[in-house]
Amino acid sequence: MQYDHVVCAFCGCLCDDIGVTVEEGQITQTKNTCVLGKAWFMEHGKPQDLPVARINGQPASLEEGINAAAEILADAHYPMLYGLSSTSCEAQRQVIALAEILGGSIDCCTSVCHGPSGMAVQGVGEPTCSLGEVKNRADLLIYWGSNPAESHPRHMAHYAVTQKGMFIPNGRKDRTVVMVDVRRSLSARAADIVIIIKPGKDYEVLWALRALILGHKIEADSLASTGVTLEQLTDLADRMKKCKFGVIFVGQGLTQSRGKFMNTTAAFLLVRDMNKTNKFALIPMRGHGNVTGIDNVMAWQTGYPFGVNFSMGYPRFNPGEFTIVDVLSRGEADALLSVASDPVASLPSTARRRINEIPVIAIDTHESETTRIAKVAFTTTTAGIGAEGTAYRMDNIPLHLSKVLPSPFPSDEELFVRLISRVKELTS
Ligand code: SF4
Repeated sequence: MQYDHVVCAFCGCLCDDIGVTVEEGQITQTKNTCVLGKAWFMEHGKPQDLPVARINGQPASLEEGINAAAEILADAHYPMLYGLSSTSCEAQRQVIALAEILGGSIDCCTSVCHGPSGMAVQGVGEPTCSLGEVKNRADLLIYWGSNPAESHPRHMAHYAVTQKGMFIPNGRKDRTVVMVDVRRSLSARAADIVIIIKPGKDYEVLWALRALILGHKIEADSLASTGVTLEQLTDLADRMKKCKFGVIFVGQGLTQSRGKFMNTTAAFLLVRDMNKTNKFALIPMRGHGNVTGIDNVMAWQTGYPFGVNFSMGYPRFNPGEFTIVDVLSRGEADALLSVASDPVASLPSTARRRINEIPVIAIDTHESETTRIAKVAFTTTTAGIGAEGTAYRMDNIPLHLSKVLPSPFPSDEELFVRLISRVKELTS
């Protein structure tokens, strides 16, 4: 069986031109995928030799697993629900509903990657555009703290750098590409201009760039600690002012370096300044396939993109208080529900210490460090391979995920509908 125009849900590019060949219940070939996308389809498209549920490491039926998980959640005083960046929006809605019923906290992977971008959006507003506009209009592309050649391998070829567009008829020749980073990454090969900043100095450079754009004078000496010269910045400011449509793609090199949300706020303010004279936009380079989806779903349902607490009966947002690393490091949560994520492998040791002390429920499509230590673990099918659903591309465009394979496992959405029903029975 051959499927065309399938969406790859591995990274935030959500490439929607993928071809998938299925033979004897297994994905045997893909077309148009990058190396990461191909590995994702092949790995998730082969039969999983795992039980649908495990309790204390022993195989159990789905119903037994749901009962055990519901009892843990119903008994908890402060459950923490986390993950959600690699599942469908339909499942994400259910998990948010469960957090509200339980009066717990819910957080997603955004808090440890692009949380500072979400905070800048709330403080400054989001000067954004679609990747389609980038392809058709953008003549100046600035990748800041991002290495798309390795993190989003088709970003430059499919959406941005080499594509021909309606107002960019000559593709690469009509665009100027700038890489701003703390090192010369693999992506620098695709750039016209490479600006190397000293680690932790992004905020200073962005603020200086804002000053130049707004017509202020800067002393060359004031940039000495940043590793960037006044000539480099003046040249970039001139190009930004002269371009027709500029876009800054912001990566974790900016959001997770010293300054964090002050860095992203400076970048968003810079783009806001630019729009006084010419068209400019900013797009965060979101990593996981539907991490943009959980931000959107959480914002529709609670008003906030991540780090939300329901203990007062209404949603409260406070990064640093209700975010996963902070809740666990303070030893506050007394149960953890992990969905499509691996907090044991990815969170710092202070948070992991608490994970080892409390009952963990892990829901994932494959074995992970977290499913191995979980009191109750479920195997679900992958959204975009064994289940349909919706995911948001990094530019906030929702796309349909196709089902290309039958699966013996439930989808995350199906599992949560049943889990919520059982939790309601136990808590009513
Ligand atoms: Fe999949 Fe991302 Fe590669 Fe596109 S760039 S094929 S979405 S992994």
